[in-house]
Amino acid sequence: MPSGLPINHHELFVYTKKVNSNKLIAAIEDKAPQIIKIAHILKDYGFLCYVVGGSIRDLLLGRPVSDFDLASDAEPHEVQALFRRTIATGIEHGTITIRMQGRSFEITTFRTDGDYADARHPESVAFVRNIDEDLARRDFTINAFALDPISGEFLDLFGGISDLFGHEKPIIRAIGKPEERFAEDALRIMRAARFAAQLGGSIEAETLEAMHSLASSVSRVSVERIFVELSKLIASKDPIYGMQCLYDIGLASLWGFATATEASQISPETIQRAIELLAKTDDVRVRWALMFMPFDSSERATAALACAKQLKTSKAFRVELVHILSCAEQSLPALSDPSAIRHWLAQVGRAHAKSLWALQCLWSDAHVEKAAEEAYELPAEIHAELDAPLSIAELAIGGAELKAAAIPAGPHMKAIFAEMLEAVLTDPMHNKPEELIALAKACYNR
Ligand code: ATP
Ligand code: MG
Repeated sequence: MPSGLPINHHELFVYTKKVNSNKLIAAIEDKAPQIIKIAHILKDYGFLCYVVGGSIRDLLLGRPVSDFDLASDAEPHEVQALFRRTIATGIEHGTITIRMQGRSFEITTFRTDGDYADARHPESVAFVRNIDEDLARRDFTINAFALDPISGEFLDLFGGISDLFGHEKPIIRAIGKPEERFAEDALRIMRAARFAAQLGGSIEAETLEAMHSLASSVSRVSVERIFVELSKLIASKDPIYGMQCLYDIGLASLWGFATATEASQISPETIQRAIELLAKTDDVRVRWALMFMPFDSSERATAALACAKQLKTSKAFRVELVHILSCAEQSLPALSDPSAIRHWLAQVGRAHAKSLWALQCLWSDAHVEKAAEEAYELPAEIHAELDAPLSIAELAIGGAELKAAAIPAGPHMKAIFAEMLEAVLTDPMHNKPEELIALAKACYNR
């Protein structure tokens, strides 16, 4: 084994920094044989076809490939003419989706991007005949590989292989002048932090400096796209690096994450603690919630709501985050008290119990000495209560039974049901029709 090379399974593909294209092609054939077919069709008609971008990066790293992107000198109308089933996904940018055997593949005509008027979208794109220019418009060296899946020609024009494998960690380095590339498209600032987090990499110094100086231009990017990047970063392998980076370049305040500004009462140490806790859980809900834990307990839910609204997240995401943070205001139940556990479960909901337990244990530093996997697991005492009746819907009787027992519907119902639930939470043995009816009658006649 030559020295200086990382030893693990990407040796399959990269040996003494030389890429083994045959192995890459075999991997593509295995994961998406349609690509070989598509490339053959294009080649038969005299066009070029490369597998490009993130898919090659992920294959090289042995990561799951989310989507295979193709690039060709064929123009969109030529692609449409060659394939039976196509969708004009982004025809103005040269992208056509080819449907084949139940799968979709995006193919984009080699292009360069025109001027970026608004740090968001190129004003125009120009199709070009050669792939070099197309690769040069891409964001980072590790995203600019191209492989011809028929001939095995492998292109790495910007030193991406060296950035991926030549150092202890993958290096995220902008292609060309970082300042210019981020000024063209500010989303790349977020992407850099996200890729570093996902790949367990680090950002090259000049690239990082440019991110810092242009950070404020991220506010011009659509919040939906920011949210996608932020979500990927938070769910990543190394969320600490990614989040620290966003804080360091001053982006965290943009979405109302807890920041230690002069005006706020939050100390840098508290924020640091939240960031460092991110890696202690795989639960993405807990990771999001952690970013708001440095706030005063009464302010967390409000801050998270403002952030989620600003990022135009789904309602489900927003409701869940706010619910978790509101519940985190209260302390966890004593494990020796089953009734307290059931009351707590009724309030937080079975579906959120695990997240809340982990969040609050993490934040309070409880169990800190235990191994991460077991420390924040829901304890057996709580598991034991998960099957207990916890809501009005789970009571042994409902409105119909009360009516049959001569308790008519009316405004008093709310109090009656609350009282029945309270009795059942205190002791599930009370969840019997005759007992509950007696209780309801007593309550009604009071
Ligand atoms: P993932 O699919 O995990 O998000 P990816 O690298 O495949 O990562 P995509 O958004 O799918 O990212 O884009 C595919 C390729 O297109 C990238 O690898 C990169 O070469 C190029 N690309 C995407 N977005 C940009 C951008 N904002 N600026 C420059 N090039 C980009
Ligand atoms: Mg992709």
